[in-house]
Amino acid sequence: MTIETDVAIIGAGPIGLFAVLELGLLDLKCHLVDILDRPGGQCTELYPEKPIYDIPGLPIVTGQELVNRLLEQIKPFDPQFHFGEMATALEKLSDGRWKLKTDAGTEIVAPVIVVGAGAGSFQPKRPPVPGIEKFENAGDGIGVHYAVRKMETFRGKNILIAGGGDSALDWVINLAPLAKSMTLVHHRDGFRAAQHSVNQMRELEAAGKVKFHVASVKQVHGEPGKLTGVTLAGTDKTEWHHETDAFLPFFGLTIKLGPIAEFGINLHENLIPVDTARFESQTPGIFAIGDINSYTGKLKLILSGFHEAALMSQAAFHICRPNEKLRFQYTTSSSNLQKKLGVS
Ligand SMILES: Cc1cc2nc3c(=O)[nH]c(=O)nc-3n(C[C@H](O)[C@H](O)[C@H](O)COP(=O)(O)OP(=O)(O)OC[C@H]3O[C@@H](n4cnc5c(N)ncnc54)[C@H](O)[C@@H]3O)c2cc1C
Repeated sequence: MTIETDVAIIGAGPIGLFAVLELGLLDLKCHLVDILDRPGGQCTELYPEKPIYDIPGLPIVTGQELVNRLLEQIKPFDPQFHFGEMATALEKLSDGRWKLKTDAGTEIVAPVIVVGAGAGSFQPKRPPVPGIEKFENAGDGIGVHYAVRKMETFRGKNILIAGGGDSALDWVINLAPLAKSMTLVHHRDGFRAAQHSVNQMRELEAAGKVKFHVASVKQVHGEPGKLTGVTLAGTDKTEWHHETDAFLPFFGLTIKLGPIAEFGINLHENLIPVDTARFESQTPGIFAIGDINSYTGKLKLILSGFHEAALMSQAAFHICRPNEKLRFQYTTSSSNLQKKLGVS
């Protein structure tokens, strides 16, 4: 699928989201790519329920609440999200635009690329099971998967989920109704997930729809690409064979810079140096905002990223609309901006 737009944003963290507003006020349309399955970056992935105290005008707001408010604020601009996709390659086209490719086959062609990749891409932690990589992403609904892109592919399958956090329990609850069988393993009889998810899982267990074992996965079995089962070990070291079509470990995420390092953008200590008038990298047309950039005096704060998004947008406008003039306007007094925001 090839999409043409004004701006392709890598990263739907708080800064990528706010950039949609600043670009939208200048009539620039955006597509955002994020490897996570939801918006918010560090705010929703690392501290959704923690209060933030230094967002201007919001004395106290949780990570999730801030993201919800940003989503509401950018709604009039109808940003297009590509979740669960890793931005993997960037190519310059002969007409001067960029082509951004993702691992899901999406291609976004745009005159401006904004890297809002924060600390890098969140990637799943692989459990320490020998040979597990031979079964990774073996096909729809079979083998080892670290994310669920389409629930329907797991219909009628024997599914084993490992982990004790929100992701593990959410997927147990969501996939149990369509699975042939659902088994959850966790190394202890207690969970880090939200209490209502734990209660729901316990109800499914009591109804015989989920089997729960205090155990860990020791080995994986099958032909390369075709998982047939795993060896489970209980806390008393007893081992047993468990047949399964799919194994979904949810052991948390690590942050790695990932493919951006291969995009040919100048990096310094894994950050993108930018100028502080435009927040453009040393490659014209590629901008970097939020935690991923570096400049003298940089503070990795959300409010700094918001300012960077505003200045980046002004510079991006001149690349996207070279023959148009840009007039500075306030949202309070410009009926033109208010129309775009849908408030007049
Ligand atoms: C525990 C904690 C508390 C904090 N408290 C505060 C606070 O009180 N106040 C404050 O101002 N700041 C705070 N911060 C910092 C703040 O969260 C960051 O400054 C902010 O999240 C940066 O936003 P961002 O959009 O630049 O990047 P991120 O939030 O890191 O989002 C970047 C996104 O890009 C995606 N991505 C990266 N590479 C790729 C790729 N190749 N393909 C697809 N997707 C990709 C990632 O998956 C991620 O979702 C805190 C941080 C932590 C960890």
